[in-house]
Amino acid sequence: MDNHLNKWGNIRKRFSGLILLGAAFVSITTAATRFGAAADRSLDGLRSGVVSRQASGNVVVVELDAASTAAIKRWPWSRDNYARVVDRLSSAGAGSIVFDVDFSSTSDAAGDRAFAAAISNAGGRVALPTFGQQRSADDVRTIDALPLPLLRPHAALVSVSIAPDLDGSVRDMPFATMTAGVPRPSLSSYIAGRSGVADALFPIDMSIDPKTIPRLSFVAVRDGKFDPKLVRGRDVLIGATAVEMGDRYGTPSWGVLPGVIVQALAAETLIRGIPVRGSVAVAIVLALMLAGLIVRQRSTGRIMLISALGAAVLISVALLAQHAFQVVYPIAAALMAIGTASAACLGRDVLRRFDLQRTTDDATNLPNRRAWQYSVDDQRAIAVAIAEIGNYESLHAVLGSQAASDVVVRLAERLRLSSEDARVYRISNRQLGVSLSAEQPIEDSMSCLRAILIQPVEVAGRRVDVTTTIGVAQGARQGLDRLLADAAMAADQAQVEGTFWRLATTDLADVERSISLMGELDQAISAGEIDVYYQPKLNLKEQRITSVEALVRWKHPIRGFIGPDLFIPLAEQTDRIAPLTIYVLKRVLADLQVWRGRGHNVAAAINISAKLLSSQSFNAEIERALASFDAPTTSLIFEVTESATMSDPAAAIAALRRYRDLGVAVSLDDYGTGQSTLTYLQQLPLNELKIDRSFVQFAHQNHNDAVLVRSTIKLAHDLGLKVVAEGVEDVACREFLAASDCDLIQGYLISRPVPLGDLIGLLEAAQGGSADGADPYSNASAEVAAHHLRRQAG
Ligand code: C2E
Ligand code: CA
Ligand code: CA
Repeated sequence: MDNHLNKWGNIRKRFSGLILLGAAFVSITTAATRFGAAADRSLDGLRSGVVSRQASGNVVVVELDAASTAAIKRWPWSRDNYARVVDRLSSAGAGSIVFDVDFSSTSDAAGDRAFAAAISNAGGRVALPTFGQQRSADDVRTIDALPLPLLRPHAALVSVSIAPDLDGSVRDMPFATMTAGVPRPSLSSYIAGRSGVADALFPIDMSIDPKTIPRLSFVAVRDGKFDPKLVRGRDVLIGATAVEMGDRYGTPSWGVLPGVIVQALAAETLIRGIPVRGSVAVAIVLALMLAGLIVRQRSTGRIMLISALGAAVLISVALLAQHAFQVVYPIAAALMAIGTASAACLGRDVLRRFDLQRTTDDATNLPNRRAWQYSVDDQRAIAVAIAEIGNYESLHAVLGSQAASDVVVRLAERLRLSSEDARVYRISNRQLGVSLSAEQPIEDSMSCLRAILIQPVEVAGRRVDVTTTIGVAQGARQGLDRLLADAAMAADQAQVEGTFWRLATTDLADVERSISLMGELDQAISAGEIDVYYQPKLNLKEQRITSVEALVRWKHPIRGFIGPDLFIPLAEQTDRIAPLTIYVLKRVLADLQVWRGRGHNVAAAINISAKLLSSQSFNAEIERALASFDAPTTSLIFEVTESATMSDPAAAIAALRRYRDLGVAVSLDDYGTGQSTLTYLQQLPLNELKIDRSFVQFAHQNHNDAVLVRSTIKLAHDLGLKVVAEGVEDVACREFLAASDCDLIQGYLISRPVPLGDLIGLLEAAQGGSADGADPYSNASAEVAAHHLRRQAG
């Protein structure tokens, strides 16, 4: 896991810069383009929705509303109506009376005259509109419309032209407009008393809520049905709001508004002061600082939280600035920057999670084989070890998948302990991999591992024996995969051989040689190149050879002598061990007849590979072979290694029982090298236990070995088993074993493995010797015999 994080730490550092650059790029281009402006405009609705304010109340709208059109039926209205409204307003004390109504054409003459008179009576308080309008449907040029000359003398002329943006919304208003070659103030400038350059625009403050502009109905004013206080000292704007009059404009914040209300908003804007445009840079700098914070986050939740909070803060500050100081900061670019940064970080996060998932073993959370392949450091491993759980399947079947996974995790912890906190990968269900430190000799690492791994594992409140073997591969081969494959093969071999660990064949040529060797093994059997030698086991109590172990020999016509240590494991891997074993069995059964015929009551032991125990066809063939010989099977012993019984205990026990039922004795070979306990062995139908020569050889010198050998003998006896000590090479060793109550000894001290002829000679000599009353296996005579036989065996 750390490994992944390290890797992603590096990638994050590299990408963070890129993401920030990207965010900066996006924000700057957004700010610089029309898209950015549009994006900012689209935020107007939001802005005014949140910071909407009340109108000042100083601008009052007298609306030509639905009630008025209902009351004054004939259109266009007689100007007499306007005259009466002007009279009413001026007597109520209105500050100014500004019309947004088209008076460019005549209506009834009397009405026009009355209106002109009212304007004149109002004493310069009245302003009338001028505006540009399109000449005709297919001519976009405008002509300027002015009020009737009759109305003009006592009225101010103001421009009421409104120019919506391309999207149809009104946002800005001119300070002044040229109409009929004369610059005229816009209606809003006129009301606010502002001067400005013709056609220069100012933004309408859309945060002013149009609903708060006081309105009076035209017909109510005409009829004097209004509170004069409402207009006293105020600017009165008169215009159409009735839908059928059609004078309507879209706005970004308030939907469609009557033109007169837009004019009123513009006037309010100028009265309050035009909002100032803040610099884009402020928000961008803020956003980039935020993006910097976002890219440093590890969790999706935090990225989203900070992005959302950041955007919210940015928007709030912008709104506050707008509300309190009339400063409008464009924030679209900044929001884009934050959005870009958080989207990129989320993407990076998703990738990271995806990668983590791909490189993690689900059941154990350990990094998997792919993680190893991705890991930069461990890629260059020059020595790798694979720990293989021999009994994984049975653990899985008996304990369930959860506990089996727990076992794997425990083992991973132990492996990590032993090799300086190295990363442990789960290579397959039953395999864990680790790279070995170059400093420590492999032998040391292995003995350390062995000490740790031999302990039973405690899972789900149970102590379970886990049979682990280790395969080691080293050297700069063609990549990690090759190294792992070799280590896995070595671990398999170690399991087959019943050893704790094994080094992979280092040379590719070796592998090829062994493949061709196996091709030759088939012919070797029929060509009689395969021979069987016998090594005696001396019974210390009876002081005679009571059994011999059959050991296979291959005399290759070209390669010379090939040891079983080399070709037996190969035969096991390539499924040639069954025919080989059957061949050995038949030879042994034939040879048994020979020495039995000469009166030697000596049993023969055969080595049975782990693989064969659970093979139905092999066991059937064994039974057939035994049936066709009439030698008593009681003189046969099968030697099996303890690892053989551990990988699939149920099948092994069943097979051993069947052998016993056939009258074949069972001997447990290489005891001590595996990981079984004597209690476990108790369940196996055994007759004999062979203590591995690695414990025996120096038992007379080494205290620990001596303790182990003695306690094993005692416990085996308690279980009713005979004990054979293998690899006895010294007299002192033999004496130690005799004193320790060992039943049988086997080793070069007694005899090397010898061909049948020599064995018979040896048996005969021993018989003769005992007839003489001398003990051929004790003291000096034993060494002489051994010397003699050593020369024979070669
Ligand atoms: P093993 O079953 O443990 O056989 C004993 C091995 O120890 C033999 O090696 C024997 O020569 C050697 N040995 C005996 N006494 C001494 C001693 O005093 N000192 C030392 N240093 N070594 C001693 P060998 O014959 O090379 O056999 C090696 C292994 O090959 C055997 O180990 C056994 O696992 C396997 N093997 C041999 N023949 C057969 C066979 O027919 N079938 C099967 N499945 N495996 C066989
Ligand atoms: Ca053996
Ligand atoms: Ca052995």
